[in-house]
Amino acid sequence: PTTIVVFYRDLRIADHRPLANAAARGRVVPLYVAEDPARAWAHGAASRWWLREALLDLQQRLAALGAPLLLRRGNRIDTILMLARETGAKTVVWHRRYEPDLAKEDAELVEALKEAGIAAEISDGYLLFEPDTIRTGAGTPFRVFTPFSRACLSAPTPTPPIAAPKKLESVSGPASDPLEALKLVPSRAVWPEKLASAWSVGEVSARKTLDHFLKQGLDDYAEARDRPDLAGTSRLSPYLHYGEISPRQVWHAVLAHKAAGAGAQNSLHRFQLEVLWREFSWHLLHQFPLLPEKPLNPSFTNFPWLEDDEAALLAWQKGQTGYPIVDAGMRQLWQTGWMHNRVRMIVASFLIKHLLISWQKGEAWFWDTLVDADLGANAASWQWVAGCGADAAPYFRIFNPILQGQKFDPDGAYVRRYVPELSRLDDKFLHQPWTAPASDLAKAGIVLGKNYPKPIVEHGFARKRALRALALSKGE
Ligand code: FAD
Repeated sequence: PTTIVVFYRDLRIADHRPLANAAARGRVVPLYVAEDPARAWAHGAASRWWLREALLDLQQRLAALGAPLLLRRGNRIDTILMLARETGAKTVVWHRRYEPDLAKEDAELVEALKEAGIAAEISDGYLLFEPDTIRTGAGTPFRVFTPFSRACLSAPTPTPPIAAPKKLESVSGPASDPLEALKLVPSRAVWPEKLASAWSVGEVSARKTLDHFLKQGLDDYAEARDRPDLAGTSRLSPYLHYGEISPRQVWHAVLAHKAAGAGAQNSLHRFQLEVLWREFSWHLLHQFPLLPEKPLNPSFTNFPWLEDDEAALLAWQKGQTGYPIVDAGMRQLWQTGWMHNRVRMIVASFLIKHLLISWQKGEAWFWDTLVDADLGANAASWQWVAGCGADAAPYFRIFNPILQGQKFDPDGAYVRRYVPELSRLDDKFLHQPWTAPASDLAKAGIVLGKNYPKPIVEHGFARKRALRALALSKGE
């Protein structure tokens, strides 16, 4: 029998249950259907670059096993039905999808296949825990992270990853659309080169990234994870997002590390918690389909954002706010498609609270520029920083970008790397160059307002303005 395996964000061959089941059964037709570019939250520009590279990698890996990947454009359901007719496939298999519109599309696909007399088989695999299996004692979904994480940690351990098939039997006949037809080229011409020098995409690179982190990073994770100047985190996020590695592979690798008695237990636990934030975000999205668009806390619906401050938004996007840690983060994002988590929190807080620009505008910029842009994690994190999400940081807690810089980039290595115009400034002034004496600025070759901006807004003023806006939104 012939089975169609529909790939989506599971661009790997190891720990891929749909592929393994299809291979065990007989002939395999691997398929990737391009997304509808008109859909809300269609891939952003950096994501298109990553996806193209990941598909190239998957194509090679599947071809080497004996069953080339077919790329097709067009309506997903029609495309799959047509391919089933072309190949005589009697079963279609895929991994469950959780974006609200895609979950709906998959339910429609199941119906359409049933009508055509074709079996549908859906596996879990994008998450460690299915959204409906992690519930409070009262049977409701969690809205607070800590008890959610405890429930996950005491739930049955996710099943161990399964091996990649050694060989695939293919079907002759069906032709693939060329990869170019999927139009995955980012709109910005400068990007592909920059992103390619920052990342190596694909399943083997994902595994290498994990192995490197297990050897070099995990044991110090608890201390180093908040330091953007150190390589203290795994950088697995884009690989996890595209499924070049599965969360089960990551989870079980950490459990094995733990069982071997390696590493400080608090670091291992801390890392597990971060992986569970990913789960929490997707569980929230499953529970609140409007999470990417609407504040969960309705009292934020009428927040007095300064919506038309285009100049401030642009200064933030380009890393020209005059606050070095903010600018370093935004430039890291622009240059590499990724930003350290601590700095994501700082720049998000700066946009929302210092510039009073709505979190949705920041979310949209991240969506377009992150290689790990992820509907669940991005939406949940922006709402968390804005203070309007589930279990959010309270709005009135406003990060001071100077103190954050001094604390988490104490030697200024991160700022110097991404804001080279400040590289010769003394450590003392690095996170607040406007306080440096004229002689220090001159020595470092800095002319504020000329080759590095003056602060776009004064911190004390911005803080008070943000608190006033919060009071206004509450009708106080
Ligand atoms: P590690 O620290 O090594 O963590 C391991 C994995 O756990 C990550 O790869 C990721 O899958 C998951 N993870 C860690 N922290 C979080 C978190 N806070 N929320 C959800 N999952 C987490 N992450 C994305 O994957 N995509 C996004 O679009 C995204 N947008 C964000 C927007 C904002 C405003 C903020 C504050 C955070 C956002 N994050 C997002 C979460 C986090 O910043 C990244 O997952 C992390 O920086 C990725 O780096 P890493 O793989 O080295 O993380």
